Amino acid sequence: MADVLVIGSGPAGLSLATALAQRGLTVEGLSAIAPQTPWPNTYGIWVDELEALGMSEFLAQRWQDTVAYMGDGPIGLNREYGLVDQERLQGHWLGQSDRYGIKWHLGKAAKVTHGSKWSEVTTEAGEKLSARLVVDTSGHNPALIQRVPQEKPIAFQAAYGIVGRFSAPPIESGRMVLMDYRDDHLPAAERRLPPTFSYEMDLGDGVYFVEETSLAHAPAIRFDTLEQRLERRLAARGVKLLEAQHVERCLFPMNMPLPDMTQAVVGFGGAASMVHPATGYMQGALLRRGPDLAKAIAQSLQSANTSPAEAARAGWQALWPDERLRKHYLYTFGLENLMAFKTEELHQFLTTFFELEQSQWAGFLADTSSLPEIVQAMLVLFGRTSNPVRWGLMSSVFAHGNLLRRTLTA
Ligand SMILES: Cc1cc2nc3c(=O)[nH]c(=O)nc-3n(C[C@H](O)[C@H](O)[C@H](O)COP(=O)(O)OP(=O)(O)OC[C@H]3O[C@@H](n4cnc5c(N)ncnc54)[C@H](O)[C@@H]3O)c2cc1C
Repeated sequence: MADVLVIGSGPAGLSLATALAQRGLTVEGLSAIAPQTPWPNTYGIWVDELEALGMSEFLAQRWQDTVAYMGDGPIGLNREYGLVDQERLQGHWLGQSDRYGIKWHLGKAAKVTHGSKWSEVTTEAGEKLSARLVVDTSGHNPALIQRVPQEKPIAFQAAYGIVGRFSAPPIESGRMVLMDYRDDHLPAAERRLPPTFSYEMDLGDGVYFVEETSLAHAPAIRFDTLEQRLERRLAARGVKLLEAQHVERCLFPMNMPLPDMTQAVVGFGGAASMVHPATGYMQGALLRRGPDLAKAIAQSLQSANTSPAEAARAGWQALWPDERLRKHYLYTFGLENLMAFKTEELHQFLTTFFELEQSQWAGFLADTSSLPEIVQAMLVLFGRTSNPVRWGLMSSVFAHGNLLRRTLTA
């Protein structure tokens, strides 16, 4: 019987399976699709996040000219951004998986039961797999993880993107646009709709990636609305799509409730609500937090008597220690603000945000700052921003004070 059974073979599953095996544990995997199936999503990340982990070789492309547009602009971000080389990263983890002899089963986890020494997962086809601990990495709608009930509607990040060739360059050569919130190409009535921005990259050789994105909205903004907005944005620049090489429809939840941390299965990745609630990023978090989770699981399984419930408790504690929980509530408060702002205030807020010290906004976006550092950055922002934004933030304190209370008392 394996020490750990990992459910799912996305970025969370493959990275954690490797981290667990590196700790000397015997690991098996169960995935609905073959682990070699190419990951469908395009993953972007700040270069310094991968550099800090010694992993910048896993970048397919990088941009030094990174900007954002709010009402006008551009605002220079002076921070290098990159696209993950999915094939290489996935290949790296599959290579590690082979090296450590991780056995992958094909099937969909449907149910889990727990004994005092091991857990048993049953697949939809009726196959049974046992391990001392089960880790669910099956994504944002996980197979086994239970979440704390929440009444608040789930807000989704939605995006419609095209990789292709255009009649003229949609953006300046060699540039990456993190967010272009300019909306003067939209008729006045449409500007009242929830604001969306475009995320754009010059991929080289005359190919560009342009993606109309709704940061977060409940319910999700429809793909056809995003597609139409992207067309209008490009048309206003006098740009026509000539050839679409790839179309990306992106939809994932931003403020999923936290997992129930008393259950005897651990989660990781989307399954463990690890998406940054105010930005949607998660890849850096996977790479930073996986090794600590693997270490805690390995330590807890050192004793032959450890039950799945005990090992899971150790895992949840390593993944979601108190300070991280507090930051999560603060980010969720931030998300509520971003969703509540009208276009004008959103532009003002984000302009002031990117005028903070780079270490302050970078630490917020990557979730690498401590709680006191984030609070300090938010106080500076509050002091510098416009009165309507301050008013919006104060109204949010009344509307979502429970999130701030949890930041103080989690
Ligand atoms: C289009 C898109 C673009 C994104 N872009 C970025 C980005 O640029 N940067 C960033 O940081 N984040 C991004 N995200 C957010 C997040 O990083 C991704 O959603 C990421 O793929 C989540 O990884 P995961 O491994 O947790 O889940 P997934 O990638 O969803 O993998 C889940 C795995 O579990 C398997 N599975 C599912 N159900 C079962 C089951 N019952 N039994 C067994 N196996 C099962 C699946 O086959 C799959 O292998 C993006 C998300 C989307 C959807």
